[in-house]
Amino acid sequence: MPAESFDAIIIGAGQAGTPLAYALAEAGRRVAFVESDHLGGSCINYGCAPTKALLASAQRAHHVRTAGELGIKAPEPVVDFAAVIERMHTLRQNSRDSLHRKLTVDRDGISVIRGRASFTAPHTLEIALAPGKTQQLTAPLIFINTGTKASVPDIEGLADSGYLTSDSLLLGLKEQPEHLIIMGGSYIGVEFSQMFCRLGTRVTIIDTKPRLMAREDPDVSHPLEAVLEKAGVELVLGAETRRVSRAADGSITVMVAAKDGERRLRGSHLLVAVGREPNTQDLGLEHTGVTLDEDGYIEVNEHLQTGTRGVYALGDIKGGPQFTHIAYDDYRIVRDALLHNGQRTTAHRPLPYVVFTEPQLGRIGLSKGEAKEKGIPYRVSRLPARTIGRAVQTGETDGFVEVLVGEDDRLLGAAVFCEQGGEIMTMFQLAMAGRLRYQELEDMILAHPSWAEVLNNAFQRLKPGE
Ligand SMILES: Cc1cc2nc3c(=O)[nH]c(=O)nc-3n(C[C@H](O)[C@H](O)[C@H](O)COP(=O)(O)OP(=O)(O)OC[C@H]3O[C@@H](n4cnc5c(N)ncnc54)[C@H](O)[C@@H]3O)c2cc1C
Repeated sequence: MPAESFDAIIIGAGQAGTPLAYALAEAGRRVAFVESDHLGGSCINYGCAPTKALLASAQRAHHVRTAGELGIKAPEPVVDFAAVIERMHTLRQNSRDSLHRKLTVDRDGISVIRGRASFTAPHTLEIALAPGKTQQLTAPLIFINTGTKASVPDIEGLADSGYLTSDSLLLGLKEQPEHLIIMGGSYIGVEFSQMFCRLGTRVTIIDTKPRLMAREDPDVSHPLEAVLEKAGVELVLGAETRRVSRAADGSITVMVAAKDGERRLRGSHLLVAVGREPNTQDLGLEHTGVTLDEDGYIEVNEHLQTGTRGVYALGDIKGGPQFTHIAYDDYRIVRDALLHNGQRTTAHRPLPYVVFTEPQLGRIGLSKGEAKEKGIPYRVSRLPARTIGRAVQTGETDGFVEVLVGEDDRLLGAAVFCEQGGEIMTMFQLAMAGRLRYQELEDMILAHPSWAEVLNNAFQRLKPGE
């Protein structure tokens, strides 16, 4: 059977591929949109959206539990774990249904093909539709948007222990863990730790690094650790996991080599959250000129072009920071290049991100460590959250707002660890994009008493960076 010909093929219905399919179809191109699993990719199915749905339930439980601090008497909340999980599933299913409708009913020009794609030649793909059933597709333009999956380290006993990953937990966990051990203290592990702790699960985080979120400055990691420890999360840091085993009673034992010797941690569930790995293994890339870096991610230039003409890689699969807003910006780069003669590239784009704990950690631009490493002179101001009027009124006094200012008085970066940290960080990002001097923020009239007023006060303690 000859390969069916399209103007473009998109492999993977993720955060870059989906808007690209819409844009190409709207421009009159015939698009084959191939997805081996659910539409929406990781963000909708096993990433941002389901974690934030669970976090919302956990935060509500916490607010009820702590209502007494604001003079409101409420009984200890009862967490109906099944209902919490059901709510997440419902929201996810709504997103899937809406996507399905938008792609198949509301739009012409997109053929959604459910199957696993692999290259057989630089511009030809074989789609495994069902056992023994395949379809051949060809197009001058091919977009690889196949994302990542949870990576699982090679640790004795782990493979047979019935561990969870964020993917399997979000898609299939039914029972509430009594004691969740989380291997990995980066943002995924950290968000899950506070979420489960607030839902009433005992939580332990193990990490090989000496601190959580080890890419952040130490004085960002430590306040986050303090908040989690105060809430009851046990931290076992600087600890190497040696062995994992499951006992006949269903409990999981994790043996770690910690600073103070070997420790045996016993829990009911183990979540492995040590990073992600690219879905490049069975893509048949050996039939193309597409090259991979040492971690298996697809190598691209700043226009997201691979080593094969007309083949692009977008989103997590191309390596670098893995966020939905970055994948979406990859879509903009390709859309503008192909449809609007645009010159947008990956070079010099900002990298905002938010860790959705409470308080949130919002980050943009340079950290102190990065500024030092790059030899960029800076001044820094750190405002404790307890000095912010809004924080005092709402009782959300944990955390700080830290801003780095360059020699030209313009902002270099910010770490905002406080209530509404993500939104406040975004205001700093806007100021950076508009190249405002810090004095303009300091003297701007801002509504009182809003969190935004932080922009007036954030620079009060500016002092030279060390
Ligand atoms: C637990 C968790 C929480 C997260 N929280 C956030 C957050 O709060 N904010 C944020 O910005 N980011 C978050 N992320 C990251 C975010 O989900 C990803 O960066 C983003 O979804 C990447 O999108 P993508 O376009 O690269 O592709 P993906 O969304 O990963 O989609 C790839 C798709 O390709 C399909 N596929 C793979 N191989 C094939 C094949 N051979 N043939 C056909 N189809 C294939 C897959 O089934 C998948 O649907 C989180 C991630 C995780 C795991």
